[in-house]
Amino acid sequence: PSILDRLQINENNGSFSIGNGLAGYHDTAVKNINSPVDGKLIAAVTMASGANYDQVVAAAQDAFKVWRTWPAPKRGEIVRQVGDALRQHKADLGALVSYEMGKSLQEGFGEVQEMIDICDFAVGQSRQLYGLTMHSERPQHRMYEQYHPLGVVGIISAFNFPVAVWSWNAALAWVCGNVCIWKPSEKTPLTAIACQHIVEEVFKANDVPTGVSCLVLGDRAIGEAMADDTRVPLISATGSTRMGKAVATKVAARLGKSLLELGGNNAIIITENADLDMALIGAVFGAVGTAGQRCTTTRRLIIHNSVYDSFKQKLISAYGQIRIGDPLDEHNHMGPLIDQDAVTAYLRSIEACKAEGGQFVVDGGVLEGAGYESGCYVKPCIAEVENSFAIVQHETFAPILYLIRYNALDEAIELQNAVPQGLSSAIMTNNLRQAEQFLSYAGSDCGIANVNIGTSGAEIGGAFGGEKETGGGRESGSDAWKAYMRRQTNTINYSSALPLAQGIKFDL
Ligand code: NAD
Repeated sequence: PSILDRLQINENNGSFSIGNGLAGYHDTAVKNINSPVDGKLIAAVTMASGANYDQVVAAAQDAFKVWRTWPAPKRGEIVRQVGDALRQHKADLGALVSYEMGKSLQEGFGEVQEMIDICDFAVGQSRQLYGLTMHSERPQHRMYEQYHPLGVVGIISAFNFPVAVWSWNAALAWVCGNVCIWKPSEKTPLTAIACQHIVEEVFKANDVPTGVSCLVLGDRAIGEAMADDTRVPLISATGSTRMGKAVATKVAARLGKSLLELGGNNAIIITENADLDMALIGAVFGAVGTAGQRCTTTRRLIIHNSVYDSFKQKLISAYGQIRIGDPLDEHNHMGPLIDQDAVTAYLRSIEACKAEGGQFVVDGGVLEGAGYESGCYVKPCIAEVENSFAIVQHETFAPILYLIRYNALDEAIELQNAVPQGLSSAIMTNNLRQAEQFLSYAGSDCGIANVNIGTSGAEIGGAFGGEKETGGGRESGSDAWKAYMRRQTNTINYSSALPLAQGIKFDL
């Protein structure tokens, strides 16, 4: 059966039920989920209440007591099977991501591929949860450190990567011995339900205790409850900076741990030494991919004066070729925004940009007529601006690209860094000195800095995240797993005396 069949959509009333009692609860508000692709109702989803949430946390706590006793490589084997199940369902799940969220089918498949990749990564990681050993200053003593699971990990995710970001967290958290409670975006609950079904099948076949993977459907109120909850030692939250600040404040007030992946305001510096054809593809994909709704979307191009006019012309002609429409039709480059609110925010940003003196060289606007019935399709647009404009300092989650001129690389790097966010950045150059300056301590201040690659499309093997208002968290590859564990230092005395550290004498 296809993923949509497996959602068990009840055709009589548009609502659905989900097999496992932990996968969601049914006594509060019902939310209609309409596709931004065609505006049609896909399903009505019942949101969890506070009482439901408490039941889920209790079940997760019970599950943790068992799951933490499973050897880490055995937990890795379960995650390997989850990766295999995702391979089987890649086409269906990718299509559902595309239909529910509105990104292109290729990007929907790419998102599921990221889930598969992180599962593979986590399987290997399950045998590499390394601590260090140290030499003790005391005779016949041994010192080492080890990493233990934290317990219940709360995952709050955004609509734009409705499933991949959950899997980055869950796959690592599970091999580390944690149990997860996922609160997906209220805009994309169906893909979350589909993932929960896929995981459940694998977990049941392996007698994994119920509650290792929990899904709670709800809006920000559930997210706020998680942030306040001392039973949830780690909150991993992905979304806007506004949300991150609210979550961080609550979690810090109880001295919990938070891992934040927030907004970006990403720039590509296009130097006089750039391969301009390569820069064009990087810039256009970065700006219009996912209709400008990636945290790593290219929002600013900082272009050297000597190539500014010719590159602007290349951009204008490339934008003229972008096909906008049904993202499930692979002929199209760009699909819709997520909903009408996003369209309103896009239109307001265009007005704000004009009011500050921005000059549009490719105009925006909302598309109407056949194929655009959902009202969520907009034109990608380009404006010449100053980096200091308030609107340029702000992340508008839409395909609006800003052009900024520069003369010297020092100035370009300063402009690139002169925004509150610090996620992704790139330089296009064939000059080694320029590339190294950009990557140096005096270069980009972002968590991601690329050379001759655009700002979007990170790989699973590196640590993903950013600085400043992007929140400072790192997920996915490298040593990001450490965020999901607590470190313990152990000292063992195998002598027959009790020497004290620092040579302190204490005799009875
Ligand atoms: P959003 O902040 O509106 O919502 C994100 C999630 O947080 C949702 O699940 C929402 O219900 C929840 N939430 C909202 N307010 C909350 C609160 N006060 N307390 C607890 N939970 C709360 O973001 P969105 O519109 O879904 O996603 C777009 C944003 O996400 C953009 O800013 C984008 O840059 C960012 N993002 C960042 C990354 C990254 O890795 N840095 C990845 C994807 C998206």
